[in-house]
Amino acid sequence: MNADVVRQVAAVRETVARLHRELTRYDLVAWTAGNVSARVPGQELIVIKPSGVDYDDLTADTMVVCDLGGTVVDGGGSPSSDTAAHAYVYRAMPEVGGVVHTHSGYATAWAARGEAIPCWLTAQADEFGGEIPVGPFALIGGDDIGKGIVSTLAGHRSPAVLMRNHGVFTIGRDARAAVKAAVMCEDVARTAHLARALGPPLPIAAADVDALHDRYQNVYGQRPTTDPTTTPGRAGPAGRASGSPHHEENR
Ligand SMILES: [Zn+2]
Repeated sequence: MNADVVRQVAAVRETVARLHRELTRYDLVAWTAGNVSARVPGQELIVIKPSGVDYDDLTADTMVVCDLGGTVVDGGGSPSSDTAAHAYVYRAMPEVGGVVHTHSGYATAWAARGEAIPCWLTAQADEFGGEIPVGPFALIGGDDIGKGIVSTLAGHRSPAVLMRNHGVFTIGRDARAAVKAAVMCEDVARTAHLARALGPPLPIAAADVDALHDRYQNVYGQRPTTDPTTTPGRAGPAGRASGSPHHEENR
């Protein structure tokens, strides 16, 4: 690695380590489950959580750098056992700069039933552009999870997929956007569950879902982001690989 790449990797290590704190802050993970990864902009490299390390012990130095095949190129520990799935997504979806995986409770309850979350909330239309879909059952380790994520998201605007009997995978133009999608996915899953417990929720007309999604994704979020994991030129309206850090302020 030349000096520029070393600096880039160091910055992404900091970002990925810091973003893991959001998973615990929003109560999306138990024990060492869950992980965040980010693409090193312009490089065939990703930074991902080490396997089996307590959240309290995650630092920039403990993060693991892998190539897009999932092979470790820098870092002393083993990468997350979900690295193959993350790497598959980065290979198949060049617009994706960040991937997150959790077993957050409400969303994973929908995954356990193999049930997509219908779009009953304007916040879901904004962030997900419709239902949050369910991906196939797949065993961990090989490419099956990655294939399931990519093939399911290909047919949806959602940056989140509920992998059946497993949990949530989200994508974003950068790691922060993917973390935001994971937080919002759990929030939507919880409210949708509560709503259905009260009786049949009301659908939102497809045209209104389209209008909400378009406004949220394209009218807001035009200001440049300062996230160091964002690649210049990927920051424009990018459909589902989106999630400007500035959206919230405008709502
Ligand atoms: Zn998992």
